[in-house]
Parts: sequence; C-alpha cells; structure tokens
Amino acid sequence: MPEMPELEAHAERLTAQFDGRVLSGFTPFNFTALKTAQPEPSAAFGHRLLGVGRRGKYLLLRFEPVTFVVHLMQGGRLLPETPRPGKPLSMKPRGGQARFTFDAPDDHIEDEPAALLLTEQGKERRAGVWCVPSAESFSAPPLDKLGPEAATISADELSTLFAANSMRVHGFLRNQRMVAGIGRRLANEVCHRARISPFATTGKLGADGAARVADAIHGCIAESLEFERSRGDMSSSKDRPSAMHSRTGDPCPVCGDAVRAVEYSGYTVNYCPTCQTGGRVLADNTTSKFLK
Ligand SMILES: [Zn+2]
Repeated sequence: MPEMPELEAHAERLTAQFDGRVLSGFTPFNFTALKTAQPEPSAAFGHRLLGVGRRGKYLLLRFEPVTFVVHLMQGGRLLPETPRPGKPLSMKPRGGQARFTFDAPDDHIEDEPAALLLTEQGKERRAGVWCVPSAESFSAPPLDKLGPEAATISADELSTLFAANSMRVHGFLRNQRMVAGIGRRLANEVCHRARISPFATTGKLGADGAARVADAIHGCIAESLEFERSRGDMSSSKDRPSAMHSRTGDPCPVCGDAVRAVEYSGYTVNYCPTCQTGGRVLADNTTSKFLK
C-alpha cells in the first residue's frame, strides 16, 4: 500500500498538473466508490482545483465549497487521463472506480489531461472518495480520527503517545490513529533504523526510545520522499528501496546479518536480529503454529 512519501510526491505531481483547473464532472463507476451522501459532488462543479493535498494516506482534491478525500487502499491509483484526438474518454475504464473531469485549461495545450481517474486493481473495491465540506475536511470522517502526521511528529509527542498506548511498536506505527502515514514497509524500516525490536512494547521505550523512533521516522520518510520525488509516477512496492522490508534472507546493509521474517496473515514483519533484538531470532508465527 502506498505510504506517506508515495502519496505526498503524488499529490505534488497532481498539483503541478491540475492546479487551477475547473471541475466539470464527477462520475462514480460503482455504488461503493462514493462513500458520502451529502454534500453532493456537484457542489464543486465550475470551481477551480485549489491544489491536491495529503493527510495520512489520503489525498485531498480541494475545491470550494467541498473537498474530495481519496483513499487508494492497496491497489488504487489516481491517474491523469488524456483522451486520444477525436475519441471521448471510455465510460468503462479498466479498473475504474470514479472519474473527475475537468474543463480544458485556459491556456490550452495539446495532450493536456482531461480527467483524473481513480482505478483499483483486484476485486476488493475498497478504494473510495469522500465528499466533505472544505471547512471541516480535517474534522469530518474519514480524516477526523487520524493521529499526528508522521513526518512532523516530535519526540515529545511520540513519547506521550507511547506512554498512553502500550502496544507493540510495529503495530503502533501502522495504526493511523496513533501516527498517520506509515504502513508495513516504513514500520519495518523505522524499527530497523531505530535499532528497536518490532515487538518492543511502546509503554516501556521511554523518552529515549521515543526520540530514537521519531528520528528514524523522519529519516526514513525523508529518504523515501527523495526517491519518490525523483520519479514521474508513483512507484510500485517492488521498486521502493528498503533495508528490511521484503528482504527476508538478504544481508542487513548495516551489519551483514540475515534479515529475518515473522509472518502474519496479510503482512510480514522483517527485522535484523543483530541490529534489533540482541541477536535473538523471534518465533515465526506461521512456523510455530505447526509446532504447537
Ligand atoms: Zn543488522
């Protein structure tokens, strides 16, 4: 799933391409694509895009008086669409969930994209769009319960949250109500950079542990953002650089020890025993299930 750096860079590219364009239409292609009943998306028709923002793992298409909040989930993408000369946009686009259509730009240039298409690969259809009043966009669902932004959370804020929410640090990092923008890949990378076990208890990490984790969050995000900004489109998960994530069996780039894995249904926790657990190899969930 794309995380904060991928979405942030994507929002920047979309702003460069679409800022100031006038919205002419919004078309959901199935009944799950639009998650809200009121206000109506048509409230934004005829209004100029005031940039594409981001909060946590959501993209925000800002207009007055409404903002469209978009979640890409696992396999979603928000793609510029440029019709071929003389051909209208397809009304059954492959994987299409919803489409934002724009008027031709004032300074009409050939091959200018005419629309933004929300697509989702696979059958889950969990990607979606919320239409919310712009003045309340951060205080209304789905953004209202998000924790502080990962890129700017301070060591003190993190320390307070750690003390109040005792849980495994890997789970804490992925919990959007605790800190917003981190997913499985960054959680693996942050724990490794902080030299903390992914299964360490947040309540026991103290102010020093929180400071290390905050530093690691900022460092990992800055590197990922630099990589992502160097690209012309959003990376796929296999392209993203990592020291731990999806590196089971590879040598740790810091110490050379083999990267280990603990498997859960749907995701894998990767870690380096030498860097993170004092050399201890943690029980692999899938393996130990059969040993019981
Ligand atoms: Zn290591």
